[in-house]
Amino acid sequence: MTPFEAVNHFFQRAAVIDRLSDEAIAVLSGTFRELRVQIAVRCEGGARNVYYGYRVQHNAARGPYKGGIRFHPDADLEEVRALASLMTWKTALVDVPFGGAKGGVQVDATNMSEVDLERITRRYTEQIGHIIGPTRDIPAPDMNTNAQTMSWILDQYGRRYGHTLGIVTGKPVALGGSLGREQATGRGCVIVLDEAARDLDLGEPGEISVAIQGFGNVGSWAAETAIEHGYRVVAVSDIRGGIYQPDGLDIAAVRAHLAESGSVVGMLGTEPVTNEELLELDVDVLIPAALGEVIDHDNADRIRARIVIEGANHPVTPVADEILNGRGVTVVPDILANAGGVTVSYFEWVQNSQDMRWDLETVNARLEAKLRTAYQQCRQFQDEHVDDAKAWGGERLSLREAAFALAVDRVTEAARLRGYV
Ligand code: NAD
Repeated sequence: MTPFEAVNHFFQRAAVIDRLSDEAIAVLSGTFRELRVQIAVRCEGGARNVYYGYRVQHNAARGPYKGGIRFHPDADLEEVRALASLMTWKTALVDVPFGGAKGGVQVDATNMSEVDLERITRRYTEQIGHIIGPTRDIPAPDMNTNAQTMSWILDQYGRRYGHTLGIVTGKPVALGGSLGREQATGRGCVIVLDEAARDLDLGEPGEISVAIQGFGNVGSWAAETAIEHGYRVVAVSDIRGGIYQPDGLDIAAVRAHLAESGSVVGMLGTEPVTNEELLELDVDVLIPAALGEVIDHDNADRIRARIVIEGANHPVTPVADEILNGRGVTVVPDILANAGGVTVSYFEWVQNSQDMRWDLETVNARLEAKLRTAYQQCRQFQDEHVDDAKAWGGERLSLREAAFALAVDRVTEAARLRGYV
């Protein structure tokens, strides 16, 4: 199953619950527009290198397309398509007035100079400039892109189409970014963790151990917020491997070690673990916050956590999802768990359009309200649709089924009102 087929698998289940017509399914399971562009740039060493980039716009029934841009060797059309469709369901679930899109450049950004990254970003922006815009399609950071990348996009777009802050979100605060945006996705993971842990009666946060795969934007802020909320973060990792400390990690020290050595690996007073071992640690909560499809049919049986919070996009394959559900593991799906980022991106866009700046307390309080509401709506949907679950031989819908069904229903209603379905 390709990543896009996997997301559509979850969509198809929602379509059954929502009783969608075949016509609506045909419209909503496809993408609206897919752009592939060549990025030929003269790199620092003098060579002209050729890369390929993508922007996929999945659905804009509820508002302008919205979605991040990733720089990664695996970023191809199929992956970007899957991520674009996830954005449609995510924005609908947290009820922000955006549709879904995603962008990617197939490049290994981790070994690249700042100068080359800037050239690639500017060329990519030129190539996709005609289909983006503050009321058309608004990019944001994703894997290996950050506030600096957004600054280059904002500047390059502005040179041609006129300068406007609302063209990207996840910008630096000095360029109109929102306070709290950088932390928002990780913070959101912990807000939904609070809800799920309370639901499952896991006890006080101090008794709850957490392992996190990935220590980038999402993973590092999830770790920091988890500790702020009283949880014990016992393991984190990056592309080079992981570290484990059963008594709990000092995240400030991990950050310092990463800044000094380029990796979390090798921090004093920790045991080394591989990324595969980290997923299977005996912890209460697992937050995969790096790559997609890391929990699949091979390792789903060995996951020991009682709650999986999908910080990354699509970290659990459909087969693994069934295995985890069957074993009673609660999976908080990506479209809810990592929706904090797009929620504060929306707040940033609102602040830009109103020429206002909210303080951090306001941003965080509104983020928390949005995510808690979305979580509770999923729980309520589960309670109200026990019959659907029984028809499939289960006791109740999974959180993912409920989240997708709610989101798909909202998008379908908007599409119907516009005359698309
Ligand atoms: P990032 O580039 O800031 O960090 C990625 C982390 O994953 C790094 O620590 C990196 O070393 C690690 N990593 C990379 N390859 C790995 C591998 N093969 N094995 C183990 N670890 C590996 O990216 P990010 O922005 O934190 O995004 C992480 C995930 O979260 C992605 O799936 C992304 O789509 C999703 N996401 C991000 C945001 C956001 O606001 N940044 C929002 C929603 C979802």
